[in-house]
Amino acid sequence: MLRKRHGFTLIELMIVIAIIGILAGMALPRFAKAREMAKQKACWGNSSNLESAVEMYNMQTTSDELLESADLGKEKDKLADFLAGKMLPKCPQGGTYKLGENGVWCSTHGSAKLTTAGKPQGDGDAGGE
Ligand SMILES: [Zn+2]
Repeated sequence: MLRKRHGFTLIELMIVIAIIGILAGMALPRFAKAREMAKQKACWGNSSNLESAVEMYNMQTTSDELLESADLGKEKDKLADFLAGKMLPKCPQGGTYKLGENGVWCSTHGSAKLTTAGKPQGDGDAGGE
């Protein structure tokens, strides 16, 4: 007499759960990396906007008040008129924006220009000068 089976055995369920676990273990680090990359790109977009704002400010100000190197957080009043929403953009990971001879860079993400030129920035120390 053939006995009809109902549902799955414990072993079958454990194998399925193990496979799902392995797949999740492979996918999650990639998602985390994609998120980091998105934040970095957003930050570099902010840097680019800030650079434009600095350029516009420098074009309409007198030569002794030019912004050439500065902590942009402290100069936000000067730049507010040239930024969307009249506010300094915020780094998605809490970095601060500074203006140096290579343009605007973030204390966390560095500068897009320098990084693509093969000099990684923002590895934890607040260098860049
Ligand atoms: Zn940043």
